[in-house]
Amino acid sequence: MDRISLLIGPIGQLVTAKSMPWRYGDQVLIMENAGIAVDGHKIIEVGSWDTIGGKYEGECRIPAEESLVTAGLIDPHTHLLFAGSREDELELKLEGVSYEEILRRGGGIYRTVSATVGTTDDELRNILLSRLFEVARYGTTTIEVKSGYGIDPSQEIRLLKVINDSINRAPIDVVPTYLVHVPPRGMDRREYINAVVKSLDEVRGLAKFVDVFCDEGAFTVQETEGIFREASRRGFGLRLHADEIAYIGCSDLVREFNIASLDHLLNLPEQNARLIAEGGSVATLLPVTILSLMSSKRPPVKALRSAGVPLTLGTDFSPNSWSLNMQYVMELATYLLGMTPIEVLMASTVNAAYSLGLRDRGIIQPGYLADIIIWDEPNYKWLSYELGRNKVLTIIKRGMVLESTPMGTVISKECA
Ligand SMILES: [Zn+2]
Repeated sequence: MDRISLLIGPIGQLVTAKSMPWRYGDQVLIMENAGIAVDGHKIIEVGSWDTIGGKYEGECRIPAEESLVTAGLIDPHTHLLFAGSREDELELKLEGVSYEEILRRGGGIYRTVSATVGTTDDELRNILLSRLFEVARYGTTTIEVKSGYGIDPSQEIRLLKVINDSINRAPIDVVPTYLVHVPPRGMDRREYINAVVKSLDEVRGLAKFVDVFCDEGAFTVQETEGIFREASRRGFGLRLHADEIAYIGCSDLVREFNIASLDHLLNLPEQNARLIAEGGSVATLLPVTILSLMSSKRPPVKALRSAGVPLTLGTDFSPNSWSLNMQYVMELATYLLGMTPIEVLMASTVNAAYSLGLRDRGIIQPGYLADIIIWDEPNYKWLSYELGRNKVLTIIKRGMVLESTPMGTVISKECA
């Protein structure tokens, strides 16, 4: 018997992609009575329990006869770092007050910017860490975190440093993105973009991606182009908030740039799905935001599927769409967007990893990181089917079992 750190099995149902990215219609691996052998951070073998259970002896073994087992969830689109909240704006929204009017009354994004800029590094670190511990409770094992509520480049760099500080303290992996969010008030736009571009050298090493909010009321296609040109020249990956409020040509930027992910896409023209596929990009859909916008629009899921675009899902956690829970996103993706349970699972694991340029996770196969969820559900269909409950039983991050504490946080523990 080979001694290893962790043995999982027998497993009721193991579901994983076979390769990345996963496209609608691709095969997945569904195995009953399976076993997973983990040593250190990595998966070393996957197979039938008869084989795995007979070959390995784990320092720790977790039986999962009644459970679905999948790769850990990955959230590829969040605005996790900001101070304050805007719950009072919900009532205004319900009264039909427009976002422009809310902005005029001192609400909206600029309010969050003032709150964030007025908060110390230490407080921001605590806010971010507590959110990272909370997302882990819902099964998210890797998360992208955008800056974006500093606006002034020196503030954005401060936020990116806070995000980087969390990397070694969080229970899960964090991927930092520099988001060029909205133009500042009372400053010439061209001057601002020059300042953003100038800051990119300092941002190098602090962010893997540069993201621009390209839309009506945010940055124009031409402004986004200018930022992307300089960012890609410096080796940043690119992400794009595109076609959310209106179509002004933002998604067409895939013709010109290698964009890892185009996100939102509520107003994506159907013919642009093919452009996204040809550009090799992923489409990230954000159903919580569709709810919080109270929008009747939907991204063109069928067109994206038939063009062969890999789909992913994210929380888009922000003061305007307050959910840290990827399971909620998965449920909404089925009921609001018509995505199938298997499609939702692939979107939230393998394709999210792919969109973040992480080729070492999101799949349960030998050599991949042992980021694994054991679910309190018998099969993958329940992840979409059952609404509103935290369905996670056990979270394994890099081969370590995480545990909830009465404080609602998660810590690593020796496997009992
Ligand atoms: Zn966003």
